[in-house]
Amino acid sequence: MATSDTSVVVVGGGVAGLSAALYTGRAGLQTTVVSTGESILRRNAHLENYPGFPAGVNPRLLLDLLEEQVEDAGATFADGRIQRVTREGDGFELLAADGDSYEADYVVAASWSDATYLEGLDVDFLDRGSKTFVGVDDFGSTTVEGLYVAGRLSEQHHQTVVAAGHGAQVGLAVVEDSDVDFYHDWTVPEGYFTERGRDVPPGCTEIDEAARERREAESIERMREAFAEPHPEEPTMHPSLVDED
Ligand SMILES: Cc1cc2nc3c(=O)[nH]c(=O)nc-3n(C[C@H](O)[C@H](O)[C@H](O)COP(=O)(O)OP(=O)(O)OC[C@H]3O[C@@H](n4cnc5c(N)ncnc54)[C@H](O)[C@@H]3O)c2cc1C
Repeated sequence: MATSDTSVVVVGGGVAGLSAALYTGRAGLQTTVVSTGESILRRNAHLENYPGFPAGVNPRLLLDLLEEQVEDAGATFADGRIQRVTREGDGFELLAADGDSYEADYVVAASWSDATYLEGLDVDFLDRGSKTFVGVDDFGSTTVEGLYVAGRLSEQHHQTVVAAGHGAQVGLAVVEDSDVDFYHDWTVPEGYFTERGRDVPPGCTEIDEAARERREAESIERMREAFAEPHPEEPTMHPSLVDED
């Protein structure tokens, strides 16, 4: 895996934030996900429209697996509620409610409905009745250089695959804006590029047949284990239905 001094803080460990972190982490950027940890997806009963699962999938299991994948990609996790983001030189400082602070060259805000911590910055807030979104371009960039917004917070459709896809789009935009002009995160059979006299492009990996078989075997084993038992957690109910006593 490539490494870089470029630092990225992703605010929000839900679908969009984790997907963004997956790509920045795999690209070798120093990625930290700071989150209060309660993805809105935990409220879903059974996720039936996420591509690739014909009988649906437990959304809490999907989040657990995605978190594991992001950790394997080299990202680190911190519990915390970000309260304020300020400009520090060319980068940013993020302050959490517990007093912890984080420095970053790039910030990805992926906090579903919370945009309050961006109020000190000159971003484009979109008021839609009870909800506030943040205006972005096609790649999730805001009017503040280095600050991106991913997922529902940028007024994407309120669907899991859309949030995941948008998070990936934003993660890749951060990678390309940092120091890589062309980047495809692909794993391909040995010789796919080199046997045509081409260099393996940035982000791509050629693997031989033995490595492919080993990776497939590991994935079968991991998925068998993950799907062996029902997930222990029940869906989170809407806050208005939760008995506070
Ligand atoms: C009841 C229900 C059922 C649903 N069912 C489906 C369905 O069947 N199919 C489907 O496609 N979609 C469904 N959805 C929608 C789907 O869950 C969302 O569209 C998706 O989770 C949005 O992803 P996100 O990353 O933008 O937000 P989230 O997944 O909510 O992630 C936001 C993250 O930000 C964190 N956070 C918030 N503020 C801060 C802060 N200040 N500092 C640090 N962290 C912070 C939160 O803890 C959370 O981890 C459902 C939603 C609900 C409510």
